[in-house]
Amino acid sequence: MPRPIHATIHTGALRHNLERLRAAAPGARLWAIVKANAYGHGIERAYEGLRGADGFALLDASEAERVRALGWRGPILLLEGAFEPRDLELCSRLGLWHVVHCDEQIDWLGRHKTQQPHRVFLKLNSGMNRLGLAPARYRAAYARLQALPQVDEISLMTHFSDADGDKGIAAQWAVFQHATDGLPGERSVCNSAATLRHGHDAAVRGDWVRPGIAVYGSSPDFPVHDIAHWDLRPTMTLASKLIAINTLRAGDSVGYGSTFTAREPMRIGIAACGYADGYPRHAPTGTPVLVDGARARTLGRVSMDMLAVDLTGVPQACLGHEVTLWGLAGNGAALPIDEVAHSAGTVGYELMCALAPRVPAEAGE
Ligand SMILES: *Cc1c(COP(=O)(O)O)cnc(C)c1O
Repeated sequence: MPRPIHATIHTGALRHNLERLRAAAPGARLWAIVKANAYGHGIERAYEGLRGADGFALLDASEAERVRALGWRGPILLLEGAFEPRDLELCSRLGLWHVVHCDEQIDWLGRHKTQQPHRVFLKLNSGMNRLGLAPARYRAAYARLQALPQVDEISLMTHFSDADGDKGIAAQWAVFQHATDGLPGERSVCNSAATLRHGHDAAVRGDWVRPGIAVYGSSPDFPVHDIAHWDLRPTMTLASKLIAINTLRAGDSVGYGSTFTAREPMRIGIAACGYADGYPRHAPTGTPVLVDGARARTLGRVSMDMLAVDLTGVPQACLGHEVTLWGLAGNGAALPIDEVAHSAGTVGYELMCALAPRVPAEAGE
């Protein structure tokens, strides 16, 4: 028998979340962001749930080829654009749209030989200071692109650093508006948090929204709001089984470093899931798990291949019983990935992206 751990990608939940984001930004077209192998879900496994999007946005040419191989003929956007001049050949061949975030990428376009002018998204650095042209250089870059025969339509974009937090989008939005004022072209500024929080505002939602994390059933502003608040559903379940049951006496400890010690006799279970499966090693004692669909907690340090769970509240649990690390239990109970991430001091993004290749995964409802 194979090791009992496995992941399920919930096609129906992806579809639901996509519709939910559409409703949050009525009339805008929607990029499904599938970078990082669809946030760890697997592009091929997620595709059926995401094909209702208006386009797919990603980073790697190889990911674009995989989306085309699935039969997608609509828009695909390279979010970081070309990494070297050669990448533009692939853009021409596969009909990819691409971000232009620096002057060098404009130089490359100017030297690129193509029959097919490229659709580009000119990115403004509105304050995050990662990618994008400085506001003072934005119009000149726009004019350079406009003059190139290699360039078709130019769209305008930026990315918010604080759409999910207290600082919000106001300052960056003002920079974007000022820098793009009067320029023709479609606009795209909203990630998940901005789509959910500001998508009702026609100016902010613009022509294209770019939600990633919310499509994958994680709340961008957890713990302020959980997925239930945003009416989102878990799209990934990581489940395993109990492969051992132990009884601890008072004073017995569990796992490497003996970081948990029992104060009184207790039953514990060992689940076949560890950090080599993508479960966060830093998840401390008390991180939530579901055993037979009932809430329980982890105990002690997470090992490479195993972790311990407290069976005090689930006395019926025995060998072979179900442990849900995140997502949906067999009885329908949900453990949002955000709760596990929060307990481990990280975010849902990191956990889903880190799902290990050794975990068998399949698409399901
Ligand atoms: C990853 C990414 C997004 C999606 O962000 P989420 O927080 O996951 O919604 C949007 N736009 C760009 C440019 C990105 O790189």
